[in-house]
Amino acid sequence: MASNVETGSVAFRRTVWIVLVLNAAMFLIEIIAGRLSGSLSLQSDALDFAGDTATYAISLAVIGHSMKIRARAALLKGAVLGGFAIFVLASAVWRTFVSGVPEAATMGAVGALALAVNVTAALLLLRFRNGDANVRSVWLCSRNDALGNIAVLAAAAIVSLTGTKWADLGVAALMASLFLSTSTQIVRQAWREQDTA
Ligand SMILES: [Zn+2]
Repeated sequence: MASNVETGSVAFRRTVWIVLVLNAAMFLIEIIAGRLSGSLSLQSDALDFAGDTATYAISLAVIGHSMKIRARAALLKGAVLGGFAIFVLASAVWRTFVSGVPEAATMGAVGALALAVNVTAALLLLRFRNGDANVRSVWLCSRNDALGNIAVLAAAAIVSLTGTKWADLGVAALMASLFLSTSTQIVRQAWREQDTA
């Protein structure tokens, strides 16, 4: 049944739009909550929502466009997100020397909301899983996203129990490092595709 759904269909585009808005909203919520609560792991989790928002925006924008345009869009996305990841890593190093403990309650609440949004997005996209390769990979991405959200929840619990910032910084540094390596791969691949297109 699901395999009959065409990825160029109105239903598909509408679903991608809904998921895009959900991701953009969560990006803003995590960035703001991350700043207000002093949680860097929330801010690094926001990176993923930014990346996914860009992925869906590019998917919608480049339908019918050339490989070259797709490659350039991917290149821009990879570069911006890589820069953002470096900023989070630098912040993690900086926070090591600055006193202050993030608010565990905000981390837990926003982390749980992020998990709910990622599960919702995955369920919405599930019926299109046989279509567009970009969106097909969303299933893998969603699983990693959920793991990231659970890491934030675990950090919140440890921060709450220990009254220290280290779990928050550790999760933030780990997530930003993974993100930096993904961004580097995206940039490399897009750079090659741009030449061959
Ligand atoms: Zn993701």
